[in-house]
Amino acid sequence: MVRSRRFDVRRIDVNKRVMTGSESEEPKLRRAVCPGSFDPITNGHLDIIARASKLYDVVHVAVMINQSKQGLFTVDERIDLIRRATAEYGNVEVESFHGLLVDFCKQRDIPAIVKGLRAVSDFDYELQMAQMNNGLSGVETLFVPTNPTYSFLSSSLVKEVAAWGGDVAHLVPPFVLEALTERLKNKQ
Ligand code: ADP
Repeated sequence: MVRSRRFDVRRIDVNKRVMTGSESEEPKLRRAVCPGSFDPITNGHLDIIARASKLYDVVHVAVMINQSKQGLFTVDERIDLIRRATAEYGNVEVESFHGLLVDFCKQRDIPAIVKGLRAVSDFDYELQMAQMNNGLSGVETLFVPTNPTYSFLSSSLVKEVAAWGGDVAHLVPPFVLEALTERLKNKQ
């Protein structure tokens, strides 16, 4: 009898050790990473993470630590907001990283980077990065076309509009809006 390889990804313990076919009867978990600054997470990021979480067993969200750039939120605060925003997906892990993304991938046995493409203007730089990463370690980059609803959306635009009192409630989860309003109030 042929045993089905299908299984419910929502029931996977994402902390469990990755096993190769020879070590276990269990299938090897298929992993991907969504990297970025997420300062803060927006509905555009979430759309890409949600779609990746349907394609992969485990999606790692990697929050880049950039020592030369002060964010509005600390890395820990960003991680907390992303964890809350993605909790319902059931197969998303959130971590920070600094250094090369390909090293992050190597350490966790992640063969794929998933990125959202908003517009043609994103493409030039993303293509260069994808080719560089592939040349460095063989990791593949998959581009997901942004939901048109969010094609203009970026964390920096959200911060700028919110700082001037504009309404961004439809662009971020409610608890991100709350954190954003609070942070901008304290900055004034
Ligand atoms: P970066 O520091 O690379 O600008 P961001 O946190 O702004 O990081 O975004 C990280 C990644 O999330 C982007 O490279 C892109 O793949 C995706 N992304 C950002 N905004 C959107 C959006 N509005 N729609 C779809 N994907 C997005």
